Amino acid sequence: MGRSEAQHRIEELKAILWENSRKYYVDNAPTMSDMEYDFLMHELEDLENQFPEYRTPDSPTQKVGSDIDAPVGQNAESEARREFRKFPHQYPMLSLSNTYNIGEVEEFAERAEKTIGGSFTYSCELKFDGTAICLTYKNGKLFRALTRGDGVYGDDVTENALKIKSIPSVLKGSGYPEEFEIRGEILMPYESFDRLNREREDNEEQPFANPRNAASGSLKLLDPEEVGRRGLICTLYHIPSDNVSFSTHDEALKAAESWGLPISDKRKICKNIGEIEEYISYWDTERRRLPFPTDGIVIKINEMAYQSLLGYTAKSPRWAVAYKFKAEEALTKVLSIDYQVGRTGAVTPVANLEPVLLAGTVVKRATLNNADFMKDLDIRIGDWVYVIKGGEIIPKIIGVEESKRTPGTLEPVFPKVCPDCGSELIRPEGEAKWFCPNIDGCPTQIKGKLVHFLGRKAMNIIAGDATVEQMYNLGLVRTPADFYDLRKGQLMMMEGWKDRSAERFLSSIADSKKVTFDHVLFALGIRYVGEQTAKDLARHFGSIEAIASASKEDLLQVPDVGEVIADSIVSYFRDPVHRIEIERLKASGVQLSMEKTEETTSDVLKGVTIVISGNFSISRDEMKALIEKNGGKNSGSVSGKTTYLLAGSKPGPEKIKKAAELGVRVISEEEFMGMIPGAEQPTDENNREGEQLSLF
Ligand code: NAD
Repeated sequence: MGRSEAQHRIEELKAILWENSRKYYVDNAPTMSDMEYDFLMHELEDLENQFPEYRTPDSPTQKVGSDIDAPVGQNAESEARREFRKFPHQYPMLSLSNTYNIGEVEEFAERAEKTIGGSFTYSCELKFDGTAICLTYKNGKLFRALTRGDGVYGDDVTENALKIKSIPSVLKGSGYPEEFEIRGEILMPYESFDRLNREREDNEEQPFANPRNAASGSLKLLDPEEVGRRGLICTLYHIPSDNVSFSTHDEALKAAESWGLPISDKRKICKNIGEIEEYISYWDTERRRLPFPTDGIVIKINEMAYQSLLGYTAKSPRWAVAYKFKAEEALTKVLSIDYQVGRTGAVTPVANLEPVLLAGTVVKRATLNNADFMKDLDIRIGDWVYVIKGGEIIPKIIGVEESKRTPGTLEPVFPKVCPDCGSELIRPEGEAKWFCPNIDGCPTQIKGKLVHFLGRKAMNIIAGDATVEQMYNLGLVRTPADFYDLRKGQLMMMEGWKDRSAERFLSSIADSKKVTFDHVLFALGIRYVGEQTAKDLARHFGSIEAIASASKEDLLQVPDVGEVIADSIVSYFRDPVHRIEIERLKASGVQLSMEKTEETTSDVLKGVTIVISGNFSISRDEMKALIEKNGGKNSGSVSGKTTYLLAGSKPGPEKIKKAAELGVRVISEEEFMGMIPGAEQPTDENNREGEQLSLF
């Protein structure tokens, strides 16, 4: 490759890698597989080695990916995330050099032998697939927990870490240093991950793509109690050597274990490459039985003195390497295909499979998405198929192994009528799915809507699927408004229900009358109206009457409401059944308008979408609150719908560039404050640009 071609490719790779690094670390929503990312990174490393004059300090090969700057609106959890205080790490938190190739692990061992000369050992460990954490203990007590952040500064998540059961707040035993750092990983076990994604789907929230993203998103939640509920675990694997006087890494970890810290028992000290390869091949299959995710093996030089000798590159230690496993897929047989009706009436084909172990759980069912997908796969009942775990809660079939097809396999027939109520299915224009149009009469859709109405992000009423099933079967409820007519005597008819359970349910129903209008709007289950859209609509229109009488054009004025959502809202309110339902809910005392609270100070920013970037004289959280209190909307990324980019000091260069490209006006804090009634102008003294915030 010529110099100018190389320079061009290097720039291109840098842009692609930084963009995907942001999606992965900040949004917790990657769109590229880890393997693709790693291959592009290796291509960049190779090119930079060949043309070192084009290696710049801002290259992704020189810096660890940063999770700092998680703006509102960019990821599934953004609403509940906050900006944490930032503190510097005592020692930088680096990445690991990685490979998918066993030959490169051999080269790593050869290099180490050459440099060290004498005899030494390797510590082989699982590579836990979560998010890194650095714990500091002072006088035996947890003093601070920091995320990796950008490697130099981390977010202070101590309060959240204290809610993770495996992290001791107080050490046991003796002999621990007065103050020391220990590093490790916060992980989400598969069981917790599946439960969380089920809940998110019920609430029409985007499920997490994988347990790593879920762990990292959960660790940065606003509410420590919610962090506690997420079922995270911690495992620790490194004490920076200056902190303790052990001669080996293994001794340091054994001591940490004796102090009550969670250390993996799957480690092994290996003497040579043969033993390392044995360890790798054992865990390549055995890891499938672990209850938490791993994505490889880490091989570290065990002796601290040799670790110091080998030292570090800008991005990773030279005394360790990660061997990464390829993403798992499983081959299994299709036993039958079910056609499931969701609460919106969408019919999804789901294959029942011969049970197979995949990435830690036994998989028995996998989605086939829609009729077109089935046709493209040319799938038959009895076929052998490849299954992977994607972002969705149930695994996906990605291909058919045609060489294993035997005579007698059956071509599946997509139903013409709803498998539940028998209504003829329809396929609206532009939709990939077939739908049961009987939205208010199909039992599965009715029950799905009732469960959705009760959900935590909706009316937050304590009852689950089984309760709804019983109530429905006994004819007690058909629509959400029926919940408000239930009497204690009726509830006592239900199997297993006693005085206490009936009273708890009724008091939860009473509490739901305080749930704010935006949640009620979400609870109604209007197609395409998720949590955020419900919030936007509630804020824009203020009441259910205003939304019900809004025209499509009025609805399109709301940021992020497009044609499809607007049509769905208009058609929902045109239906007299829904109008009656809303009247009944209103009569029950459910909140169907925004309360005028002191929260809303003006509506000068009504219809205005603002992206903020940089430091301000008030904290970024306060700035976002100020925008909302004045009727505006915060967004995380600059797009065609952005009205202003509000830039403080040190704004993100990418955002400035995007704003310039799209012609979005960039305004200063001064200009912004000028728009807000009664706001104080910022002064230099109160422009908080101290050390702790300089990383934004
Ligand atoms: P990494 O995850 O490859 O390895 C370093 C990390 O491994 C450490 O920070 C630590 O948290 C963890 N680790 C787990 N077990 C360990 C053990 N026993 N000892 C030491 N460390 C252990 O590196 P990274 O810098 O965190 O992330 C880079 C990787 O993230 C890339 O290689 C890529 O796979 C993935 N990534 C993917 C995308 C995408 O779009 N899919 C984007 C960015 C990064």
